[in-house]
Amino acid sequence: MGRFFHHAIYPLFLLLFVVPIFLFYDRLNVTELQQLSLILIIGSMLTAFILEIYLPFDRRFKMFTKQFIFDSYFTFIQLPLISLVIDIVGTYLRNAQFPMLGFLWPHHWNPIAQTFAILIIAELFYYIYHYLGHTSDFVWRIHKYHHQYATVYWNNSATFHVLDIFLSAFFYLSPLLIFSVSPQVQYLFVTLSGVTGILIHVNFRHSTVFINKLFNTSELHRWHHQSESMYNNFGKVLCIWDWVFKTRFEKDNDEMLKVDHAHAQK
Ligand SMILES: [Zn+2]
Repeated sequence: MGRFFHHAIYPLFLLLFVVPIFLFYDRLNVTELQQLSLILIIGSMLTAFILEIYLPFDRRFKMFTKQFIFDSYFTFIQLPLISLVIDIVGTYLRNAQFPMLGFLWPHHWNPIAQTFAILIIAELFYYIYHYLGHTSDFVWRIHKYHHQYATVYWNNSATFHVLDIFLSAFFYLSPLLIFSVSPQVQYLFVTLSGVTGILIHVNFRHSTVFINKLFNTSELHRWHHQSESMYNNFGKVLCIWDWVFKTRFEKDNDEMLKVDHAHAQK
């Protein structure tokens, strides 16, 4: 029963917090889509928080320390502010009518198919930025702030240097702007990326042994936060570009609990 539950958690998250917007997007206007997306992302975050209390992966990790207050600043103040800035910059660029590549985009496709198509492109943009975050001294200077934590949990998923989170979000979302995708596709994308983004950074016990083949999960991302394997698993939602560029790394996470991993540092 316990093992089945561990395997069921990730699909249940998708069912509860991603599938609803994919089912009802065509009956909602843009404001309703925006609200539903926010409710689903916050719902998944709260659920992750509760699961981490009752079903922790790394039991040595203490959630409620002074660090929790710092992390809360990044989650609840910096992240919404950066989202707002990205939104303003995106609206400005859209209104400035720079020549974009919207004419190349298959706008006639079903919005769900468009969401997965733009996701694959956005993941490549993110992969490139994140790869540079570890291989370029300049970008590492800001990205290492996020890597001071060897243990990932829901509330340090947004603990980034302000410039790092702005640049990575801008890179990640720029294909949506370049190809002028519709608001429907944008909110489907943001919800899928937001909910799975939280699942990458959780400290509750669950199994994603099959999901790991396509999605970048916490089982893969925890290795990205260990110094010996930090040049792996650069994807955000998906691990397809890690497969393509041979940087995907998968190993039983319980190995991590057997040794005291030092904080990841370059
Ligand atoms: Zn990294």
